[in-house]
Amino acid sequence: MELYKHQNIKIYNSLTGEKDNFKPINEGYIGMYVCGPTVYSNVHLGNVRTFMSFDVIFRYLKHLGFKVRYVRNITDAGHLENDADVGEDKITKKARLEEIEPMEVVQRYTVDFHNILNTFNFLPPSIEPTATGHIIEQIELIKTIIDNGFAYEVNGSVYFDVHKYDETNNYGVLSKRKLEDLIHNTRALDGQSDKKNPQDFALWKKAEPTHIMRWPSPWSDGFPGWHLECTAMSTKYLGDQFDIHGGGMDLKFPHHECEIAQNQAALGKSPVNYWMHANMLELNGQRMSKSTGNTVNPDELLSGNNKFFSKAYTPSVIRFFVAQSSYRSILDLTDDGLLASEKGYNRLMDGVNQLDHLKASKTSTLDIATWKQKCYDAMNDDFNTPIVIANLFEAVKYINQIKEGSATLNATDLEYLKTTIHAFVYDILGLKNDKTEAGAGTDKLSGAVQLLIKLRQEARVNKDFALSDQIRDELAEAGIQLKDGKDGTTFTTN
Ligand code: AMP
Ligand code: ZN
Repeated sequence: MELYKHQNIKIYNSLTGEKDNFKPINEGYIGMYVCGPTVYSNVHLGNVRTFMSFDVIFRYLKHLGFKVRYVRNITDAGHLENDADVGEDKITKKARLEEIEPMEVVQRYTVDFHNILNTFNFLPPSIEPTATGHIIEQIELIKTIIDNGFAYEVNGSVYFDVHKYDETNNYGVLSKRKLEDLIHNTRALDGQSDKKNPQDFALWKKAEPTHIMRWPSPWSDGFPGWHLECTAMSTKYLGDQFDIHGGGMDLKFPHHECEIAQNQAALGKSPVNYWMHANMLELNGQRMSKSTGNTVNPDELLSGNNKFFSKAYTPSVIRFFVAQSSYRSILDLTDDGLLASEKGYNRLMDGVNQLDHLKASKTSTLDIATWKQKCYDAMNDDFNTPIVIANLFEAVKYINQIKEGSATLNATDLEYLKTTIHAFVYDILGLKNDKTEAGAGTDKLSGAVQLLIKLRQEARVNKDFALSDQIRDELAEAGIQLKDGKDGTTFTTN
C-alpha cells in the first residue's frame, strides 16, 4: 500500500539548516546511504545509537510503501588515525598489536557488528558494500578528479586541491565553514606533508614498505583516502544524485564535506538532497568515544557486567530508551534514564498485551482516526519518535479505559487501534515484546498454560474427561490452578 501518498514528510536537512519537505528524486523510490563502522574494534553504544536512528527511519519509509534502497558501508581500509593524513591506518595498527592479518581484524569486528545489530533487531540494509571491494571504482574516481583539475599527485600520493576547488565551488557548504577560517585555524605541519595546503585531503596514499593493506594504482602501491570510499560506493549503487545521506554529527566535517567536494569535482553535481546527522550519545554526561575510554559496549550493558549501571537491560528497553529522544538531540545514557525507560517499556507492553482481550462495542467514544494520524504526523515531522511514544501512551490510556468500561470502540475502530499500535511498536520502532527478565518468563509461562487450557478444552469437547482432568490435576501439582468461569478458563499460580 502506498501510504506515503497521504503523508507529508519533513526532514531536517543539514545542508539548508531547515526542516525541508521531503520529495524523492523518483516518486515511490528512495536512495539512502549511511556511513557504516570502521571495523577495527567492537562497536560501542554510541555507534549503535546512530545506526538505530537510521534503522527506524528506514523502517518508517518502508512502512509507508516506499521502495527504499538502503546502502550502509563497511570501512575496512584506508582510515588513518589522523585527519591530517599522517599516521597509521587503524586496522593495520590493530593487526600489528594483535599479530594477526588486517583482514582477520576486519572479519572479527564485522561479525561482531552484525551480531550486535541482530541482537537489537535491526533490519539489514539493502546493500552493505566494503571499501576493499571497491578499490577499482575509487581509482577511477581519482583519475576523473585529476582530469578535471581538482587533484594533484606528489610522490605517489594524490591530494584533493581544496583551494582550487573553492575558487569555483563552496568548500564548507555543509558544515557552514569558510575556507579562510580553516586556513587561519590550521597548524602548518612544517614540511611533514607533501600537500600544497594543509586543508587538502588525501585521495590516495602511497604505502610505506611496512604497510600491509596496499593495492596497485597508476600512482603507487598504496591505499585510498577515507572520504573517497563513500563517494565511490554511494554513487555506484544510488546514482550520481540520491535522496538521503546520513551519519553521526561528527562526520559532518570533514568527512561529508569532502564527499560533497569529491562528487562536485568528479561529476559536477551535489550528490545528496537531504543530509541527516544523528547527535551523539553521552555516557554519564560525557561524549562516548573509543579514544577516551568513556564507552560501554552493548554486551556489557546487556549482561549488566559493567561499572556504570546497576543492572542488565534488555535490547528492547535500550531501543525504547533511544527512541524516547529525537535523533537530533544529545542523549545521555544514565542508570536513572534506563530504569525510567524500563518502566515505560513495561507499561507500553502491558497495554499491548491487553489488546487481544478487548471486546468491541456497537459505538465508539474515542476518535481513533485522529489519534492514528497524530502517530503518523509525529514521524512525518523529522521522525519525531518521542512524540510517537507519547501517542502510544495515550493509546495505553484508551486500552485501560476500554477495559474498565469507561470508553468503547466499535469493531472497525478497535481493529484500527490494534493494527496501528502493532505497526508503530513492532514494525517502525522495531521493539520486541520481551519485557523485563521476569516479565518475559511470565509471558512464556502464560503462553504454555494457555496452550494446555486449549488442549483441555478440546479433550472435554471430545468427552475425554480422563485427559482433561489429568491436565488440570498435573498443573495443580505444579502450582498452577485452573478456574473455569463463564468467560472461559483462567489460571493462577502460587
Ligand atoms: P566510526 O566507526 O567511528 O566511523 O563510527 C560509526 C558511526 O557511529 C558514525 O556514524 C559515527 O558518527 C557514529 N558515532 C561515533 N561515536 C558516537 C557517539 N558517541 N554517539 C553517536 N554516534 C556516534
Ligand atoms: Zn562515509
